[in-house]
Amino acid sequence: MTLRTRTAVVLISLTLFSQVLPVQSASAVDKVLDVCANKSTAKVREITRGTCKYSEWSLGASQIKPGNRYPSAMNPRMANRWYAVRVAAAKAGYTLIMTSGFRRLIDQQYLYKKAIAKYGSKYEAAKSVLPPKFSMHPRGLAIDINRNKGSKSAAKWVELNGWKWGLCRRYDNEFWHFEPLIGPGKQCPPREPNALSAIPDGYWDK
Ligand SMILES: [Zn+2]
Repeated sequence: MTLRTRTAVVLISLTLFSQVLPVQSASAVDKVLDVCANKSTAKVREITRGTCKYSEWSLGASQIKPGNRYPSAMNPRMANRWYAVRVAAAKAGYTLIMTSGFRRLIDQQYLYKKAIAKYGSKYEAAKSVLPPKFSMHPRGLAIDINRNKGSKSAAKWVELNGWKWGLCRRYDNEFWHFEPLIGPGKQCPPREPNALSAIPDGYWDK
């Protein structure tokens, strides 16, 4: 290879890379997780004095289930899973955008009503927007990734790799919706056709 060809190759590679690699926001939390994410212990550790010894941020070792009370923000372990998966995706060249996460019950009610108007019945609406008490968004246990923003292939990457951090795509009709259905590294359960399966039997008979 002549020097000229080599220079050309380098320039072309640089151009390609600058287009493929996302511009990663260098927030402190990203830097911390980038260096210290530890999949084998299902924990994310914070750097202190140049080591990874202190302040472990747990992802939780099993499925994260709703608590007895409604929270006012996303579940902290769920948030850590999101941070970890976002950093890992960036390393693989994908930019993840959380387009919806924690919702207040009143927000979910608003979305549900809008869906009823759109789909014509509560039953049809519930296939994509659940009544507030059945949705995991007000529980702080659901995130929507790259819905109407960013690339669909990035959400697909989470579908294929999210299990490593305990995140699973739940529904066939929502490529963007993920829940902490397993412990990190475990196998995601089979997908459900739509959100109707989150509603207990007999609910519609009332
Ligand atoms: Zn969702």
